[in-house]
Amino acid sequence: MTVREMQDEILRLKKEKDVYIMAHSYQSREVVEIADATGDSFALSQKAKDASQKTLLMCGVRFMAETAKMLSPDKTVLLSHKDAGCPMAEQLDPETVLAAKEKLGGIPVVAYINTTAELKSVCDVCVTSSSAVQIVSRMDAGELLFIPDANLGTYVSDRLPGKRIHLLSGGCPIHSHMTVADVEKAKADHPDALFLVHPECIPDVTACADFVGSTSEIMSFAKESDATSFIIGTENHIVEHLAFACPDKRFYPLSKTCVCHDMTLTTLPQVLACLKGEGGEEIVLAKDLLRDAVRPIEEMLRLGA
Ligand code: 13P
Ligand code: SF4
Repeated sequence: MTVREMQDEILRLKKEKDVYIMAHSYQSREVVEIADATGDSFALSQKAKDASQKTLLMCGVRFMAETAKMLSPDKTVLLSHKDAGCPMAEQLDPETVLAAKEKLGGIPVVAYINTTAELKSVCDVCVTSSSAVQIVSRMDAGELLFIPDANLGTYVSDRLPGKRIHLLSGGCPIHSHMTVADVEKAKADHPDALFLVHPECIPDVTACADFVGSTSEIMSFAKESDATSFIIGTENHIVEHLAFACPDKRFYPLSKTCVCHDMTLTTLPQVLACLKGEGGEEIVLAKDLLRDAVRPIEEMLRLGA
């Protein structure tokens, strides 16, 4: 089968089986093209909640499928590949977070949406990479613990000097790998390019950026900008998607190593197998876990994400 033939078969089957396919922006071009929705992880779950289909297929990583299940508990939610996890989301366990919270006198815990359902269940409010500064600024508490990404936490802390933000060590192994030396090389190679970066990168790298934002924000900025060339400091599939969206502009990866291996587990044959009931994994969350894990998400929505 060719790529196009397989895409056609997937489109036919998803219609026949009434499945809504979500693809995170870090998915491959072939997968993004067959999806009903693409974008940031939380936005995908929100769109899926309003979809008429009763079965949702998340082409992404496990925490994203769990979030989709939390927002649509009555729908069947499938994760495209059973091994597609997120090393950052799985870095901490609930006991470590609860112990840190207790040591700090019980202050509220803010969880980046890139966390497991178990971890969310012991936290007070969730944030996304695009809403983190706004949500934390709207919290009553002046002192809080931010998990698991110390880089995003530092980014938030730097923008909200009135808040005392405690961090644990943790972060995305893919984004935190990029260095100032990578920035210097990319800027020397492309001196006219704007530098756009995800806040999961280390503070020394985000400090060099012309724009810092979530994956969708980076893509929107590049599409709307009058500039014609950009260095992209996030997962490299974004570089390819932008090249398709803006064929007259030029996009350069900050580092050729910025590839999320968990995201690349999902291939077109994998998606086809899921639709045939021969692949992926159904997300099942115990009732109590679901109730506790959705609480910080509801608090985020209440605070206006
Ligand atoms: P976004 O929320 O920006 O889509 O980021 C998800 C992610 O996994 C970043 O590494
Ligand atoms: Fe997780 Fe990093 Fe991959 Fe995003 S890029 S899914 S944070 S490992």
